[in-house]
Amino acid sequence: MSEPYYQPQADEIELFQSAHRQQLPILIKGPTGCGKTRFVETMARKLERPLYTVACHDDLTAADLVGRHLIGSTGTYWQDGPLTRAVREGAICYLDEVVEARKDTTVILHPLADDRRTLPLERTGEELKAAPGFTLVVSYNPGYQNLLKGLKPSTRQRFVCLNFGYPQREHEIEIVCREAGVASNIAARLVELGHELRRLEQHDLEEVASTRLLIHAGRMINSGVAPMRACRSCIIEPLTDDADVLQALMALVDLHF
Ligand code: ADP
Repeated sequence: MSEPYYQPQADEIELFQSAHRQQLPILIKGPTGCGKTRFVETMARKLERPLYTVACHDDLTAADLVGRHLIGSTGTYWQDGPLTRAVREGAICYLDEVVEARKDTTVILHPLADDRRTLPLERTGEELKAAPGFTLVVSYNPGYQNLLKGLKPSTRQRFVCLNFGYPQREHEIEIVCREAGVASNIAARLVELGHELRRLEQHDLEEVASTRLLIHAGRMINSGVAPMRACRSCIIEPLTDDADVLQALMALVDLHF
């Protein structure tokens, strides 16, 4: 399969390649929908490594990552979880929104994220050494994490950190054009709207309009939905439930479409 389309923000491709060569784990910080997952997919393809992606949530246990015993017709057998498979195969393991996972989950990452590069499998008594090429990548959104939930310093200090924001204007227009299949003048208007909505962060909105939302609106416009309607259902409604805020934001949309 060919590499996915990825528009670099800065030198993140080179940094990822160096960290991979040096067998260092990577932490990507950035708001939702800014291209973190697309970047990791691109790097896996470039480095010709399999990719295991896990979307972390507060019910995710260590066993979900490492594996568990299952019962089959011939008795119990061990089944590797995605992290264990990645460690054995020398793959890239991407834990999206890692701070959502339970604390016991992040603890198992420690010996993997330092020089030991090992994963102890308590249930089977194995101590797995990560195959060459194994890279642990985690991401989190510093915006909506409260301090307590943020990663512990002892965890953070093991990682090479890449800081992502939303793409700069010209890049974002290019991304919206390519991903939504809209003409560049429509993409430019969507991106302009996105930038104005982002300036409202901290005033009225918990979250701001991500590149993903702009692409969704572009795709709807591309399939024949009127631009105002597309912006309302793909950008404004996902951002707020408050009727007054919604009306004010739609007035902003009206200025662009
Ligand atoms: P995140 O993982 O940060 O929440 P994603 O990687 O899923 O965000 O990005 C959302 C969408 O935005 C992607 O599916 C892709 O279409 C687009 N996108 C964002 N940034 C880029 C980029 N730099 N190059 C190409 N596409 C991008």
